[in-house]
Amino acid sequence: MSNFRVLSASQLTTYATCTQQWAYRYAEKAPEESRSGALVLGSAVDVALKTLVHQVRSGEATVGTVKPKELLHEAWGAETSSKPEVPIDWGEKGAPANLRTAEALVEAFARLPDLEQRIARIVSVDLRFELPVLDPRTEQPAPGLGVQGILDFVERDADGKLRALDLKTAGSRAGWSPDDTRWHVQGSVYAWALKELHGDAAAEDVAFHIGFKLKEPVWEDRVVNLPAAARRRVLLSLIAASQSMDRATPFPQKSWACAGCAYSRRCDDWQSTPGVVLRRDPFAA
Ligand code: SF4
Repeated sequence: MSNFRVLSASQLTTYATCTQQWAYRYAEKAPEESRSGALVLGSAVDVALKTLVHQVRSGEATVGTVKPKELLHEAWGAETSSKPEVPIDWGEKGAPANLRTAEALVEAFARLPDLEQRIARIVSVDLRFELPVLDPRTEQPAPGLGVQGILDFVERDADGKLRALDLKTAGSRAGWSPDDTRWHVQGSVYAWALKELHGDAAAEDVAFHIGFKLKEPVWEDRVVNLPAAARRRVLLSLIAASQSMDRATPFPQKSWACAGCAYSRRCDDWQSTPGVVLRRDPFAA
């Protein structure tokens, strides 16, 4: 058993939402009972758009010659067949309507009037990082704790600073107001990581490009200013969550998250099954 733990923003968010879901996914690594159709759609759109950006940046295509629908279909096929043993929960609309939404999102992205300028601002795609978590109270690494993530894009902002740019898909604009994003967990981790990697050359804020799955899908920008307090908060949250993972007993916390939970059948019978054995794992994030 390793004494080192590597967390991610999504593991921290899962732990904060439901410790039992965290235990199934990250401590026990239990097989999923189903996959969320919304996540599958989001992943396929994400892959298609990154491929589109890569093709333009590498000169393989131009914004006028890229084939967004083909890119989406390729990504869709790979994503939907990646775990054939796990059923995908497409919800009431079903798979065909979700595919049409994904196509519309990718085509809307390819039609952005300033797409060429947007792509020119991008300096890297899928930038991976793994860093020791610094305790902001001591400025020393927190013992046995790291954080990792993958930045969809790093772009140059209007001042020439490096800024994380993350792609999202969302069912509505709820949750994307300035108040909602003030302490954005993933954004805070990403902004802190870029500061660690690039110092003052990194921006204080993080950008999101969000594809809203409205009747007419649309892409919108949100730039979230994440002050030093937000970065400090997320580091302390990572440390506190890791300490809690070592000491606390997971239990189900019924909430909005249950609707898309990949372990809901097991959770229904939670009280009759043995608890998971918690362990540290360097590849747990
Ligand atoms: S069904 Fe709900 S309470 Fe149970 S593990 Fe999933 S999120 Fe937690």
